[in-house]
Amino acid sequence: MTEKRVRVRFAPSPTGYLHVGGARTAIFNWLFARHTGGDFLLRIEDTDQTRYDENALKELIADLKWLGLSWDEGPEVGGPHESYFQSQRLPHYQKYAKQLVETGHAYPCFCTSERLDALREQQKLNNLPSSYDRLCRNLPVAVAAQRIQAGEKHVIRFKVPFHGNTIFTDLIRGQIEYQNRILDDLVLLKTDGFPTYHLANVVDDHLMEISHVLRGDEWIPSTPRHVLLYQALGWEPPTFCHLPVILAEGGGKLSKRKGAASVGDYRDLGYLPEVMVNFLSLLGWSPGEDLEYMEKDVLIEKFTLDRVHPKSAVFDERKLEWLNGQYFLQRPAEYFLPLLKPLWEKAGAPLAEFSESYIVQAIALLKDRSKRLPDFVEFGLYFFKEPETYDEKSRKKYFVPGAEILLDTLIAELELLPNFEAPTLEACYRDAAEKMGKKGGDLIHPTRLALSGLPFGPGLFELMAALGRETVLRRLGAASAAIRIGFPS
Ligand code: GLU
Repeated sequence: MTEKRVRVRFAPSPTGYLHVGGARTAIFNWLFARHTGGDFLLRIEDTDQTRYDENALKELIADLKWLGLSWDEGPEVGGPHESYFQSQRLPHYQKYAKQLVETGHAYPCFCTSERLDALREQQKLNNLPSSYDRLCRNLPVAVAAQRIQAGEKHVIRFKVPFHGNTIFTDLIRGQIEYQNRILDDLVLLKTDGFPTYHLANVVDDHLMEISHVLRGDEWIPSTPRHVLLYQALGWEPPTFCHLPVILAEGGGKLSKRKGAASVGDYRDLGYLPEVMVNFLSLLGWSPGEDLEYMEKDVLIEKFTLDRVHPKSAVFDERKLEWLNGQYFLQRPAEYFLPLLKPLWEKAGAPLAEFSESYIVQAIALLKDRSKRLPDFVEFGLYFFKEPETYDEKSRKKYFVPGAEILLDTLIAELELLPNFEAPTLEACYRDAAEKMGKKGGDLIHPTRLALSGLPFGPGLFELMAALGRETVLRRLGAASAAIRIGFPS
């Protein structure tokens, strides 16, 4: 038997921003397609016109591109199954809804929303689950046809069998069984001729030859309905694979309230797209060895569905930050240039006054201590601007009366140096400390504070060499003068 070609899809409804849960679904589909050499489709499920948001669609596409998840068929790239927007595929859904009515698997329902509301109320009063009472299911076909003829508004409902069970196999959870009697006669086509999610999803997965449906486990209750629809249409269902829920730290579903929850938020917080892909791929999957840092090519090579597990996954922000830091270590400084330039400029750094090699040098010195892109701004602006303040705790410790003499002595020593390279600077500080009867730290900490305003940073002598003699002397002089004047307490 030849294996079916792998064709998977990410099928978002563009009603809001790309949530990390949605991104995780997209990533699993993408990785599976890339691992197997199959196709990854992007299908826009935009049939709920009341919730449609054009901006959200643009953001969503931009976010998927930012993550680097290229699709083989879908918006912008087209493909053999166009359109990939469900709102432009209405004739397909209408055709199959009609077929289901004709084959006795569906029926027109004329119940008004007032009747359905009253029914729900009644069921609530009697502590019954709300479901359609199937009033129109028994209408004689001729009567129904007459009412349609007369222009009466109606929906098309699916005839769910009264008895029996619907069983399907989930690749991750094994066999799942639902009793048919608890499944409602769901609406397939609405009064405006638009399909519901269930009908459109099943029709499109079939027509687009989807082999595997990988989606969040909140869709498990929909699956028996889909399986019944596949059966009624005489189609073979795809393989289902429901991905585990993502929990926030401390429990509960991940949501905007519990910190950032959209992909765009993480981009703005300064995470790299490849880190997001790596991190999200680990929410429900693991390569089966103690490996967390995985670049895209490694993920693609290792990603298999048999290593997806059903256990809920926790979105661990600290791990994300750690992983981002790991990527910073691996990436060359030049990589960060286009990412950091706009951030530094926004913070007021006059980058035009500096050579590219100087900026790259600054990045090289900063990146191993940085975990997110804004760290380069918060802890690195002094490469381009004089420090505006001195860290208060360190200032109180090191910029005390008399410290100006120490700085002046250092200035005098530094002025005499034959060059301003790190080894020369280190030797100079060692000698000066000895001469003054002090420890290295007594000189290093105040110098660092004068140069950067911060109590920590890259190796001091590398930093001094990068800033250059002129800047170093100017900043040491400014700190000395400030100590002389005194700081407001
Ligand atoms: N449109 C659904 C969503 O927004 C698709 C679910 C599925 O993959 O079947 O997630």
